[in-house]
Amino acid sequence: MNGDKRTEKARLICRNCSTSIPLDAPVWLCPKCEHSLEIQIQSNFPVRKIASRKPDLWRYREALPIRSNKNIISLGEGYTPMLRYAVKKRWIWIKQEHLSPSGSFKDRGAAVLINHLNSIGVKEVVVDSSGNAGAAISAYCAAAGLKCRVFVPAAASSAKLKQIKRYGAVPELINGTRDETTQAALRAARDTYSASHYRNPFFLHGTKTLAFEICEQLGWKCPDTVILPIGNGSLVLGVSLGFRELKSAGIIPHLPRLIGVQAENCAPVYNAFHELLPTKTNKIHATFAEGIAVSHPFRLNDILDSIHLHGGTMISVTETEIESALHQAWGKGFYIEPTASAGLAGTLKYIDSAAGDEIIVTAFTGHGLKYGG
Ligand SMILES: *Cc1c(COP(=O)(O)O)cnc(C)c1O
Ligand SMILES: [Zn+2]
Repeated sequence: MNGDKRTEKARLICRNCSTSIPLDAPVWLCPKCEHSLEIQIQSNFPVRKIASRKPDLWRYREALPIRSNKNIISLGEGYTPMLRYAVKKRWIWIKQEHLSPSGSFKDRGAAVLINHLNSIGVKEVVVDSSGNAGAAISAYCAAAGLKCRVFVPAAASSAKLKQIKRYGAVPELINGTRDETTQAALRAARDTYSASHYRNPFFLHGTKTLAFEICEQLGWKCPDTVILPIGNGSLVLGVSLGFRELKSAGIIPHLPRLIGVQAENCAPVYNAFHELLPTKTNKIHATFAEGIAVSHPFRLNDILDSIHLHGGTMISVTETEIESALHQAWGKGFYIEPTASAGLAGTLKYIDSAAGDEIIVTAFTGHGLKYGG
């Protein structure tokens, strides 16, 4: 089936009230009940054709919810190297997501989302992240010529905010907390469009390509275990979606085990998964891994469902373990930011209980050049 026939049938579905909307409607929440939407689309994997295409994520075009393959705006996202990495006298695989165009895996979600918006004629978006998600959306808005307003707390200042401004996005400084900033962005999104990486369903259909690449780079084989950091869950939810699509299409026989990693200092998903007492759940401290310091993940239940579906578990890592994994990676020539070492820190903890021949994959999620430290 070519892209047009597939996407004509595709719908946006509300899981709460079952409202069904055409894929090209400019909505990002259910218009009836304001619940988040899901994309219902058939994904195909013509592996021989895929192998003949350019090394970017558009090689999986029969699995992407984009109506036309013409006029794709690309900065070369996806198909990052997957390298062997020695851990405790054995090898694991690490996807080099920090080598993405704006420096994090979030370019996958941003590329698919912004191409969708460009194809349906949306001209302006709002974002409430001054981190890697904001940078990725700003980069693709710059490439596509969309106006991008980024809501940030007035007190914020970071290398990532500089990157956002350099791409030409317009910062909207909000006097208040992170939550108040999010509320202001949501109000602004009522008249425009929210490109939120954890609310918008198109974002996950970009991050899912990480699962496709892991399989393809293993020779279309399913790994045994995939270990990923979790903040808002756009990475783990996308990767789970990707593996489920590969299984439905008959490309892999079963799902890999999916293990989520959080910093002990901010571990709402870990605590919920292990049903820890609320007193512990409420205790949130600052963490070195600021990119996953999310105290109330919007899609918490979806994340828990995914981990269970993949027969996985949640691991938490201490500040010392995060820092030590970071220094280990740096010492081997991998220049990543602190948050990006959480997956490796979790893997170092998990590996003693792994089977000898287990194929384990993790990811370096963000680039070290953005980290002033
Ligand atoms: C966003 C981010 C994560 C976590 O991704 P979520 O989608 O929030 O779970 C991990 N590492 C880096 C570097 C990030 O920017
Ligand atoms: Zn609804």
